[in-house]
Order: sequence, then C-alpha cells, then structure tokens
Amino acid sequence: MNGPSTNRAAAYPTWLPMPACTVHAVAGPPGPHLRQFVQTHCRPGAAIIDLDEIIERLSQGRPGAWAAPALEERNRRLADLAKAPADEEVWLITLSPRQWQRDWWATHLNARVHLVDPGKPAAMAAAVAAGLNVRFVHSWYEDYADPDGWRIPPVRDTRERHLTGRAPGARPPASARGYGTNHGTMRTKLLARQPWCQRCEAEGRGRVPATDLNHIKPFRRPDGSFDGKLFGDPANHEALCKTCHNAHGARTDRDASPLGSGGDGRPLDPNHPWNRR
Ligand SMILES: [Zn+2]
Repeated sequence: MNGPSTNRAAAYPTWLPMPACTVHAVAGPPGPHLRQFVQTHCRPGAAIIDLDEIIERLSQGRPGAWAAPALEERNRRLADLAKAPADEEVWLITLSPRQWQRDWWATHLNARVHLVDPGKPAAMAAAVAAGLNVRFVHSWYEDYADPDGWRIPPVRDTRERHLTGRAPGARPPASARGYGTNHGTMRTKLLARQPWCQRCEAEGRGRVPATDLNHIKPFRRPDGSFDGKLFGDPANHEALCKTCHNAHGARTDRDASPLGSGGDGRPLDPNHPWNRR
C-alpha cells in the first residue's frame, strides 16, 4: 500500500490548500544545521514541522516503516495551515535537494525557500558527529547536482485529496492557475527554441550554448514571497549560459531582496562556496 508512488505523492502533495500564514521551507543535506538555521532565523513561537522529529516521536525508536504515517501527519499539519491565523509563522524542514523540489514548496505553499548547504565535507563531518548515516548526505549531493532529475512527475493522491478537500475560499491549486509548470520543463522548452545565450549574443560574444533559464524580472517579491506569474511567464524567460546566469542572477536577487542573500537564503556572490556546483 505504501509503495514508492504513494510515498512520492505524499512527499510532494499536490492537494494541499494554500496556507493562510507565512511558511518558510528550509532545504539542505540532512544534519543538525537545518534545525539550527531555523532556530536562529525563526521568531519566538514559530511552529516547526520536521519530518524526522515526527518519525522519532511516532517510532519511539522502534524499527519499522514510519515514513508513510509520518508523511501523513506532516501533510495534515500543512493542510491545516489554510486555517492558521495570518500572523502565524511556520518553518518546514525538508531535504528537497533538487531545484524543482524546492520550487514545489514555493509554488504549492507560497513558501519562502532557504537552501542551507554547508558544503559536502562539512555536512559529512556533521553527520558523522551526529551519528547519522553519511550515505544520506552523499545521496543528497548527488540529487543536488542533478536538479531536474527524478523526472516522473509526482502522482496525484486522489484518496487524500478526497478526504481533505480544499478549505472553502482557498485559492485554486497552483497547477490550475497555470503556475505548476516545473522549472525543468520550462527550461527544456526555452532551450529548444533559443539554444544560444541571449546575453552573449546581444553583447557581441557570439553564439555560446545556453544552459540555463533566467527570469528577467525576479519572481521573488521584495518581501521574499513567490510570484507565480513571473515564474511561469515565457515572456519573462531568457536563455543564458552559466556565466551570464550567475552574473544576472546575483544582480536581480539583490534587487529583489533587501537582505544580504537571495530569496532562498543563499549568499549572492556566485563564487561563494554555497553557490558552487
Ligand atoms: Zn552568456
């Protein structure tokens, strides 16, 4: 019953209603730094939704298949956020190594996404110190290096959707608003019609193969929230090479964010170790 497809639908549920409160999603390799990041950035009284913590509480250390019931509880708590007071602040701890997974929380929960990546050597060392299996850290970095991987789209779990429904008056799902297109698909379409870096061409560097989709206007609003229209609008997409994308991405992130980092918590400097790929 809890086969991989069920777990996949539960891990990235499409049926969640839009939260009524502020949600932050913290993504990164497994380890104590995720919770530490939340504790240093959340305001007092903020709720933390952490799958590992739920598993620990449910299992009481007993071995077993705790992921499915824990995901169910996590999703129930995420669904309840549709009825939360608007001034509530909630932090979701998630691994989400792939870009599309981090975009998922931005699209489906209107979450501000923070990528907390201490770098592989530090994450490995922290895992060893915390008694975690370093295999999970290793595979996080493998997935991180392959942002569009795991291409089978998550399965819609109609059973859970039927049980939970949408809160009355909740916004329609992101997919119905036309914003559900994942980043990888948009990039593939763009690069098919625009295979050369548009900036290199415009600035006289000739034809350099484009590898990246750049959002011309940043899809992060100044307050860090997610603008789904700018994210999905092909007119706001530009094909760039890695070099131009890094230069442009840093600039627009800075314009969009009053903080010293981009909307996802990354430092703006493309040469910062967190930004190395
Ligand atoms: Zn270029």
